[in-house]
Amino acid sequence: MKLTFLGADRTVTGSRHLIEINEKKILLDCGLFQGKREEEYCYNCQFPFDPKSIDVLILSHAHIDHSGNIPNLVKNGFTGPIYCTSATKDLCDYMLQDSGYIQEREAEYLNSKKNKNEEPDVQPLYTQEDAKKSLLQFKTVNYGITFKLVDGVHVTFLNAGHILGSAIIVLELEDFEKNEKLILTFTGDLGRSRLPILKDPEIPSYSDILITESTYGDKFHDNIEMADEKVAEIVNETARKGGKIIIPAFAVGRTQEIVYTLRQLIDKGKIPHLPVIVDSPLATNITEVFKRHHECYDEETREIFMKAKQGIFGFELLNYTTSVEDSKALNNKRGPMIIISASGMCEHGRILHHLKNSIEDPRNRIMIVGYQAENTLGRKLVDGEKKVNIFGKPYRVKAKIEVTNFFSAHGDRADLLNFGLAIKGLKKIFIVHGDEKRANALKDGFIENGIKDVIVPKYKDSFEIDLNQKNHLDVINMTVELPAEHNHSGIINYKL
Ligand SMILES: [Zn+2]
Ligand SMILES: [Zn+2]
Repeated sequence: MKLTFLGADRTVTGSRHLIEINEKKILLDCGLFQGKREEEYCYNCQFPFDPKSIDVLILSHAHIDHSGNIPNLVKNGFTGPIYCTSATKDLCDYMLQDSGYIQEREAEYLNSKKNKNEEPDVQPLYTQEDAKKSLLQFKTVNYGITFKLVDGVHVTFLNAGHILGSAIIVLELEDFEKNEKLILTFTGDLGRSRLPILKDPEIPSYSDILITESTYGDKFHDNIEMADEKVAEIVNETARKGGKIIIPAFAVGRTQEIVYTLRQLIDKGKIPHLPVIVDSPLATNITEVFKRHHECYDEETREIFMKAKQGIFGFELLNYTTSVEDSKALNNKRGPMIIISASGMCEHGRILHHLKNSIEDPRNRIMIVGYQAENTLGRKLVDGEKKVNIFGKPYRVKAKIEVTNFFSAHGDRADLLNFGLAIKGLKKIFIVHGDEKRANALKDGFIENGIKDVIVPKYKDSFEIDLNQKNHLDVINMTVELPAEHNHSGIINYKL
């Protein structure tokens, strides 16, 4: 059996890993790499393998950095099935088409800028139509059901607690040639316990090999229980000044969590009834998908869902805008109000108009609630830059920037270590989906806790997996005291 790392290696985006076994090729995820424009295009359009040669694709969740290159894979000849949960499929329906739309606009923009006579036209990576076509290959599976993928390979999806429909993939692999059986677990993106709405992540009881993400491999999140208090404080202070709160939020997950949190705060009388506007057509559609998939809700959310008149994503002063006119009209409205809009890293979309209109007024606040990649406008705001460019024009940052990471959908260092160390039988760990520094920090954490064979692969690194080699297993130390505040699950104690 061979394992090759073809994306999200020592970086966060472009998740893609290849398993070769019994002459079959299984791809785990096929995400978009997101970086600088020129690098991004080349990297995404050329596959390091022939798409026709892939037999089957397993998709951990709908985020674009995991699913976003699927339409291109299909366009280039992949005809096999794409397995994912039903919520992931429903989310991809909107997200991949949205991504196709963005690709088309991007190509149009680049073509308008180039010298018409000298350079050939830029083609979109894929179109909305390509995205629609790729959806036909999606096959849905339920959590917790083991099914045969190809000869010698069985798969089980466990709940990852990261976004709606997200899954941890457990593969039971039987290599006929070597006469060897092993279990490989891929975290996809690992969520957190006690996030609003979603069920907590599940931990497989046994696995020989783990491929784990490491987005926050060196960081601890703020305690989720503090989120309500902090959000209430920001809302109340801004409301007193009559300002606007602008929240750049990912259409999937973050928007719904913020709406859910605001609704709870209003119900409890902790913040005033003020207008809340979700200004993102994609987020509005995604919210509809959330409403359909209550099988993914945790107990508390399910209970509220049963009782709530307007549903958990609705309340009296909440509006979902769809038309551009409604969105523009918000510019002339006075605060206090809360505007939640995409994109989450302030790279494109309606959020840019709201920032442009609000950023120079000190009464306003910009509340950053998600991960901001390098070189994005969102990261510049987080880094405290005093002047930023929006639509090519400079603006002074006078609104107060509030950075919170309560809502992170990724597990922190404690969650990631806890997950890996709670799995019995683990002999080898591959660390992906994290900046190099964070991936290495997580590697050190595992090594300190007794797992010797931990690798942070580079792009295109390939490994022949042979469990008969002696150098793998060392007993995991399960006796060290864990600081109480990080002992999320209470199952295991280890060194942080
Ligand atoms: Zn994700
Ligand atoms: Zn991801």
